[in-house]
Amino acid sequence: MSNWKHRHILDLASFSLEDYEEVLELTNRFKVLQDSGSRNLPALQGRLITTLFFEPSTRTRSSFELAAKRLSADVQSFSASISALSKGESPLDTARTYVAMGADILIVRHSSTGVPAQLAQALDLSDKKTSILNAGDGLHSHPSQALLDLYTLASFFSPQNPTCKSLKKKKIAIIGDILHSRVARSNLWSLTGCGADVVLCGPKTLLPQDFESFVNSPPTDQKTDPIQKRGHISICRSLKEALNKVDAVITLRLQKERMSENLLNNLESYHRDYGITHEKLNFCKCKVPVLHPGPVNRGVEISGKVIEDKSISLVDKQVSNSIPTRMALLYLLAATK
Ligand code: ASP
Repeated sequence: MSNWKHRHILDLASFSLEDYEEVLELTNRFKVLQDSGSRNLPALQGRLITTLFFEPSTRTRSSFELAAKRLSADVQSFSASISALSKGESPLDTARTYVAMGADILIVRHSSTGVPAQLAQALDLSDKKTSILNAGDGLHSHPSQALLDLYTLASFFSPQNPTCKSLKKKKIAIIGDILHSRVARSNLWSLTGCGADVVLCGPKTLLPQDFESFVNSPPTDQKTDPIQKRGHISICRSLKEALNKVDAVITLRLQKERMSENLLNNLESYHRDYGITHEKLNFCKCKVPVLHPGPVNRGVEISGKVIEDKSISLVDKQVSNSIPTRMALLYLLAATK
């Protein structure tokens, strides 16, 4: 029996431990079914799922569409480059068009923070039951990426039983361009929510000190934090110190397209100080897994050799786990109708 109560998935600040458990449990069920060869399930037959991407995407969009197809939903996809956007249509009017066609779930990506929340608010004020699933908005949030990262880590630590407990008291390092990363922000809510401690590491220009208190107060539209005791966030400028005693490393793309000013001297010095290589991973006390949400700048935030080292790189696992994770999210949202 599901306790799911979110009509939209906009960010993870409002997720309780039960929410994380439910997503991990369902993801694992879909993963097991997928691995046993049961690819297509009739669960969302007759439902219409629309991907509304106002910003480019490779992994997120195609894995959401595949997840929807695996649940037998009808899938419709909007492309910003060939749409009426160029004729001046607003995201809200574009969304309304797809709602009028009967979309049950709109999966929305936009370069501006808050667009998915605005669409959700507008739908809540109308009598429409369409759900919004945020697939990345500006610097703010990318909940499905953080949830697939959570599942990937939980199943690395406890392959037989990946749950929130698998993360408790683990120390996870997030390295690099935290300032421009919606993935890092969502990872902070989910990892600390499941009791992991996070150490953030990067240069001052890409990692302001106030990230230390990132999860200390709930967002303005929320009264209280549904998690009673979160893990701790610390900041460490030295990669050597940050990697000491960690259980896993998440490294992030340097988001040059979001940098309005020159925040770095040059890419070589960034790679020298913060790029993840086999040599730097020797700072860890033992062999630890490395994650990256993609797309990757090889030789900048991570070496090609680390990406391809199957004994440590979980990058391909993140991509394959994205399908059952996104199936779980679509299934849970469809169940609220
Ligand atoms: N794919 C992720 C995102 O959309 C990470 C990135 O672009 O670096 O935020």
